[in-house]
Amino acid sequence: MTVFEFIVGVAYLVAAMLFVIGLHRMRTPSTARSGNLVSAGGMVVTVVVTFIYAVATSHGSVWGWAALAVGLAAGAVFGVVRARTTKMTDVPQLVSLFNAVGGGAAAAVALADFVHSTPGALVSLDSSIPIVLDVLIGGVTLSGSLVAAGKLQGIISGKPLQFPGGRIVNVIVVLIALLAAVLVVVEPRNVTMLVILLVAALAVGVLMVLPIGGADAPVVVSLLNAFTGLAVAFAGFAIDNQAMIIAGALVGAAGTILTLQMAQAMNRSVVSIILGGFGTADSVAPAVDGPGASAANVRQVTADDVGLQLAYAQHVMVVPGYGLAAAQAQHEVADLAKILTDHGIDVKYAIHPVAGRMPGHMNVLLAEANVPYTQMLQLDEANAAFETCDVALVIGANDVTNPAARRPGNAVSGMPILDVDHAKSVVVIKRSMSPGYAGIPNELFSDPKTGMLFADAKKGITDIEVAVKQYVTAGS
Ligand code: NDP
Repeated sequence: MTVFEFIVGVAYLVAAMLFVIGLHRMRTPSTARSGNLVSAGGMVVTVVVTFIYAVATSHGSVWGWAALAVGLAAGAVFGVVRARTTKMTDVPQLVSLFNAVGGGAAAAVALADFVHSTPGALVSLDSSIPIVLDVLIGGVTLSGSLVAAGKLQGIISGKPLQFPGGRIVNVIVVLIALLAAVLVVVEPRNVTMLVILLVAALAVGVLMVLPIGGADAPVVVSLLNAFTGLAVAFAGFAIDNQAMIIAGALVGAAGTILTLQMAQAMNRSVVSIILGGFGTADSVAPAVDGPGASAANVRQVTADDVGLQLAYAQHVMVVPGYGLAAAQAQHEVADLAKILTDHGIDVKYAIHPVAGRMPGHMNVLLAEANVPYTQMLQLDEANAAFETCDVALVIGANDVTNPAARRPGNAVSGMPILDVDHAKSVVVIKRSMSPGYAGIPNELFSDPKTGMLFADAKKGITDIEVAVKQYVTAGS
């Protein structure tokens, strides 16, 4: 080992430490921002060191390195601009695109390594197996993530897209991919078979994600994120790059843990997800004509009514959902909660793990408005507290509160929900009777103890705040 190689090894070790420290800090919202920065620092070290090492030790042409530098700059500019301009509610699509890029890049690295390795040279098993796994997982991730991003963006229908015999086609395509994978390992110079493997993997990705509907999307995005990490780790084995192995393994492990936690939170089986069980519940879901589908059978309330109710409550539970994020009403909610707590009213927030459009969405949103972490209750804690709660204030949340989840046969069946209907009274702020992400009506809205305030979340809360101030001043 040369001194240069030793320095590169040490730099990779430092980067790996920064990744681990960064991940550790992402465990709680209070340190998550700095965790992100620390991890980004690790990535900067890795990219710069790899670039210098490659330029110093390889015999590539100047044009080749210039192309690499241009690619690096273009990627950095694209990343910064997209990250700065993407709205918080569009982050899942962005994450999905990043997954696609990561998986595709990993597959391309393995393909290039395979095609450019010395003609006639024997490709050993410890090289061909990672290449095959990389192309397989990277291909699935690339196409699957693009379809997921299209669905989340509304370019592709968010409904489960199924066709007769779909499962049989899935099985056939998976078998082709596995057969091609085995043949590449057995005959490691077979580029045609590797290309067939890539095409089959791309088809598997599309077929796997197209039938997703309703409440399953978060688990899929998380699963594809884990796949990206695995593909990158295998690419690292293929080209013998420790930094890629470590970073990929960390993403794969963290993504897998997140997927399992999300699947548990949604009461979905990861195995059924991988085997193409997506959307099966949705296919038997009732049309949007169940209870609560029209404004006629709900009780409407005004901001003044809600202000009065809150001012005389003892325990209030705020239930934030996607609509709160869409309206960017987190600061107004925090202001309202402060007025209530200053008046001696106990205010807590019930956080559902898949509320909003990305894991931890509500935690991030409320942290932005400096809501104390001690006021945020996770699903089980919140459900234990609803019985004694005077007012559950549901703001732009829908699917995560739908009692239909307790019954089989609909798009949210089996998903643990926030037991908002156990509170003494319920107020729901949303603009209309439109369903949530899963596309089914919410029976909570027609519950006799629920009052519906039809308003944009920001405007509704501001109006409630005005009313509450009036009543707490009058009462004190
Ligand atoms: P939902 O998507 O179920 O419902 C959100 C509600 O917000 C809608 O019914 C909408 O009604 C209302 N809304 C939208 N804009 C506003 C606004 N400006 N002001 C007031 N209300 C508004 O949200 P939930 O958070 O309850 O559930 C999340 C759903 O998203 C789940 O089905 C989950 O599976 C899915 N999902 C979650 C992901 C995650 O990782 N967290 C990722 C992808 C999907 P109206 O139009 O009438 O105002």
